[in-house]
Amino acid sequence: MSTIAENIRHIRQIIEGACASSERDPADVNLVAVSKMQDAAAIQEALDAGQRLFGENRVQEAEKHWTEARVRYPDLKLHLIGPLQTNKVHDAVALFDVIETVDRPALVDALAKEMAKQGRHLPCFVQVNTGAEDQKAGVGLEELPSLLAYAVDKKLTITGLMCIPPVDQPPALHFALLKKLADRHGLRDLSMGMSADFEKAIPLGATYVRVGTALFGAR
Ligand SMILES: *Cc1c(COP(=O)(O)O)cnc(C)c1O
Repeated sequence: MSTIAENIRHIRQIIEGACASSERDPADVNLVAVSKMQDAAAIQEALDAGQRLFGENRVQEAEKHWTEARVRYPDLKLHLIGPLQTNKVHDAVALFDVIETVDRPALVDALAKEMAKQGRHLPCFVQVNTGAEDQKAGVGLEELPSLLAYAVDKKLTITGLMCIPPVDQPPALHFALLKKLADRHGLRDLSMGMSADFEKAIPLGATYVRVGTALFGAR
């Protein structure tokens, strides 16, 4: 069995290879280690290996994982990559550095208000439901322009887009679509690609890949 440090090294090699063949700078592709459902020992191993950027999909679990580690690792960065309920916005703004899952006007309102209150102006991404799946979070393609305009109006800083492609479709189609949307709206960041497909997301412009299983092992 390989260790988490070895997994991280291996993933970084894949990222570098994909960058080399698509003429991208590896410094522009950030590895988000998805630590949901991992225990403290596994998380510590990733920290010991030098990993400092992590993704969590639930606010409460993230608090449990990271509230103390935050103090020990001042250079830690945390991304919220799961759906956010408005009643968790206070805690989310206090803990995270980037909210990747903005997907509706009510959440824009709640985040803008809470960031002003806490004086923490976090960059956010909009999650796009590129596959128009009923069960999946994310704004629909038709609503994206108005949601982005609404965020500008409320002074919520949106720097990128995020997507989770449908499991039964080629992910590259969705990555290419997300890239097109980001270019159209002048957004710099693209969070796309998970354990099974992050290599494919890099030539299509990913600036953040979210990797859990390939890094920590099966959950
Ligand atoms: C769990 C999760 C990941 C990581 O998935 P793996 O297949 O384990 O790499 C990435 N993005 C989101 C939004 C997730 O919830």
